[in-house]
Amino acid sequence: MTNIERNIATLYTCLYITNECINDCGYCGFRKSNDNLERITLTENEIREEAIAIRESGVRNAIIIGGTLPEGDYKDLILASTETAVEENLIPWIEFENLSYETLKELHDIGSDHFVLFQETYNRELYGKLHKKSPLKNDYDLRLQKIDEAIEAGFSNIGIGALFGLNKNYTFEVEELCKHTENLQDKGVNVIVSVPALNQANISSEELYKITSQIRIALSGVSIALSGRERHRDALFSLTEYIGTGGVTFPGGRTIHKGSEEVLKQFDLGDTRTPKEIIDLLKSLNIEVK
Ligand code: SF4
Repeated sequence: MTNIERNIATLYTCLYITNECINDCGYCGFRKSNDNLERITLTENEIREEAIAIRESGVRNAIIIGGTLPEGDYKDLILASTETAVEENLIPWIEFENLSYETLKELHDIGSDHFVLFQETYNRELYGKLHKKSPLKNDYDLRLQKIDEAIEAGFSNIGIGALFGLNKNYTFEVEELCKHTENLQDKGVNVIVSVPALNQANISSEELYKITSQIRIALSGVSIALSGRERHRDALFSLTEYIGTGGVTFPGGRTIHKGSEEVLKQFDLGDTRTPKEIIDLLKSLNIEVK
């Protein structure tokens, strides 16, 4: 039984550890060619401060995330961040695209059981065009395979998604997302599907509602996640199990670099309400919050 059948929502947020990135995806603020961005990587102590701030905000699920670097450059920091999150009583989710099977296994052994990796678009040709300047992201098949590696490493909750707006053909992306989900479900894992929309694409709330409903109707046993990236998302709360809140899209945004989003951020958030405001709203909708 999914949370939605029980009318329960789980809150999640992002814990950024770095905005440095070797890749150059044109749609992203962290792209290597973005000279307007100041590059920072948090220290272990700064990451702990962010973890504490997340816990104190009332959110427990924290996606440990950042730009992409050669694995050896940030593997130890990712492992330490995951350990810190566990120590601070958070549930760490991992969202890095180039970790080896061995590192994934270490992360799972530390206590993470959620791995997230969005395919961005399921249109192979478009994927190639969008990522041709991204050396650690330009292989469509390798990206899909990374999810299988995470499953082999022991992760039992897998987050996937398409960034709606990259491809104008939303129907295609929904169909492929559904196929990908079913394929993963056959491997015995819980699948959490995200439906983020590219800021510049200006996708209407009606369109987003349609996309989310199609996934909800097409798939049984799936969980849907709705990030704080989306504007006007209240109508979707009754369709989703995971709700992003209290987010920032840059490292240290709750603590040491608070207020510096203009020079540090990956993208704009559409919903900046606090976790408490979201919790109160969900309660008024008779949705219990985990
Ligand atoms: S989408 Fe990811 S890999 Fe691409 S530039 Fe942004 S942070 Fe780097």
